[in-house]
Amino acid sequence: MGNIKITADYHSHTTYSHGKGSVADNARVASQKGLDYLAITDHAVRHPFIGVKRKEFPTIRADIDVVQKSFPELKLLFGLEANILGQAGDLDVSEEDIEKLDILLAGYHLTSFPYKVKDFFTITCSALKRYVFKSTKAEIARNTKMYVNAIKNNKIDIVTHPGFRLDIDYFELGKVCADYGTYVELSSRHRTPDERNIEGLLKSDCLFVLNSDAHKSENVGECGFALELAEKFAIPEDRIANANHKSLILRSKDRT
Ligand SMILES: [Zn+2]
Ligand SMILES: [Zn+2]
Repeated sequence: MGNIKITADYHSHTTYSHGKGSVADNARVASQKGLDYLAITDHAVRHPFIGVKRKEFPTIRADIDVVQKSFPELKLLFGLEANILGQAGDLDVSEEDIEKLDILLAGYHLTSFPYKVKDFFTITCSALKRYVFKSTKAEIARNTKMYVNAIKNNKIDIVTHPGFRLDIDYFELGKVCADYGTYVELSSRHRTPDERNIEGLLKSDCLFVLNSDAHKSENVGECGFALELAEKFAIPEDRIANANHKSLILRSKDRT
């Protein structure tokens, strides 16, 4: 895409969750690709088996601080990819956790079971049923409400791979993201949203971030699918917040 160069990657995993590379490995690739920012965003506490534990936060922060010294032209951010856990929009990070982070991402993951049994029988079952049957209007409304509540009630900077595993109303998602200052991720890894769903987001005023969601270091900064989508649907440059050396405005850092 001629006038759009992705200059930041706000979603990468390391061995602190189930990524293959270290913080240093991811940073090296980001630096080689000339990125201005790289966020280290491993899975949060409630991700089964691989979620980062709270007691690991200082270790990750210290690791990032050391690696940062070798890459002065690249700004490393310590983040997490929190789990959206049910209809009320609960996350598996607390306010106190968020204060320790530089950036907060949140997304829905089928494997992270909700706190409430009722949410398991609605949201999780809807996600499982979707493999066989088309989602009903009521299910789409319920799934959307979960995202909307999560964004209203938590200072999420970027909502990751919206619609991955769950059908949602993309226009409603775009509207709440625009209203609350949360960026919508175009995910190269999960190829979401897809061509059927991008229109709803485009009709809203939301802003986008194109991320790799790299689980291997060599994929850091690789946004192929997201860039193709942006090109095909002529997403204007001013709606792509991590293009052309711009910086994000992070609502998680807004202390007012
Ligand atoms: Zn994810
Ligand atoms: Zn991820």
